[in-house]
Amino acid sequence: MRHEEGFDDLTRRLDALRRADMYRVRRTLEGPQGREVVVDGRALLNFCSNDYLGLAADPRVAEAFRAGVAQWGTGSGASHLVCGHTRAHEELEAVLADFVGRPRALLYGSGYAANMGVVNALLSVGDFVFEDRLNHASLLDGGWISRARFAWFEHRDTEDLARQLEAAAGATTRKLIVSDGTFSMDGDRCRLDDLVATGRRYGAWTLIDDAHGMGVHGPDGVGVVDPARYTTTDVAVLVGTLGKAFGTGGAFVAGEEALVETLIQRSRNYIFTTAMPSALAVATLASLEIARAEEWRRERLADLIARFRAGAASLEFSLMDSTSPIQPLVVGDPGRAMALSAALERHGLLIGAIRPPTVAEGTARLRITLTAAHRTDDVDRLLEALAVVSRDATPKAASARG
Ligand SMILES: *Cc1c(COP(=O)(O)O)cnc(C)c1O
Repeated sequence: MRHEEGFDDLTRRLDALRRADMYRVRRTLEGPQGREVVVDGRALLNFCSNDYLGLAADPRVAEAFRAGVAQWGTGSGASHLVCGHTRAHEELEAVLADFVGRPRALLYGSGYAANMGVVNALLSVGDFVFEDRLNHASLLDGGWISRARFAWFEHRDTEDLARQLEAAAGATTRKLIVSDGTFSMDGDRCRLDDLVATGRRYGAWTLIDDAHGMGVHGPDGVGVVDPARYTTTDVAVLVGTLGKAFGTGGAFVAGEEALVETLIQRSRNYIFTTAMPSALAVATLASLEIARAEEWRRERLADLIARFRAGAASLEFSLMDSTSPIQPLVVGDPGRAMALSAALERHGLLIGAIRPPTVAEGTARLRITLTAAHRTDDVDRLLEALAVVSRDATPKAASARG
């Protein structure tokens, strides 16, 4: 292929995505995250962020960020292992370890990097990785690049997991079970007790990525892996992210001393990247403290979730088995999901349409997320708009697709 023809090929593929209603475009926000966001000069009620506790634009966190910049400047200048690691990072790691009840925690630049980096560092040729079918892309990617033998198990199906582990029972190499804590596109939770028991039975480690559970579930928002119930033998590797409920950015891996030291020595996504800005660590210390202390945010969220689910029961959409702030409405066809999302936007509501390959073929959905920043009448407005658009937009979208 000639050099220029390569671009024609890209353009053809992009056109194919457009025709399949799979083309993705970014929206440009003109202000901070919150219950309302401004897009194209228009305020929209925001039902698609992961800012579950409403802390992404909290003035106290912003003030801590400013103080962090005054103390540390903006850039960290180098990777943690060269000269980018500061007391601010040390302090945040200690506070995070204490929060999740593990001996150590290690900061990463993002959840994506943490998941790739930890799975890849722990496994190699001859090892086994067992992943829930609906795991986040970063967990799957970490499994693929590790060169371990990769096995899926059916979503939340620990009997299927046990069958896969049985097939690998003779192997003396390492086995790692990997699961989201709360699943990002369905909002349901892993069966943690069963995962832990299965892991113990077959001598496998368990990794839980609780990106959507931390801050939201459990005592003080500790997430689905309550340290009072699950030791580091039960859940060897715990991953949390800081860009969702905690409203800043970055991620961490928590566990035993030997785990964290292994990652420092071997995790490429930790070693070969610039340390997160120290000011971000300072801001996160502030947001973590607020997230732990302000129980009303979790209570408000629980009330809003209950209100939404009660109201949505009378809509034509079926609810998923979710008690989390993620409340997806599966509509099936990507074109229909897009049409509904556009119709909701005309009603002043911002709700993302999630399509394959993010979710399985035939399960395109509206992914509604609630946050502690919402008010009860916001949820009522959402329910009214959903009732209207499901009457109006659905037949048109359906017939347009023949
Ligand atoms: C969002 C998410 C990640 C990625 O975290 P980032 O910090 O946004 O890179 C990882 N795992 C799960 C389950 C997520 O939902």
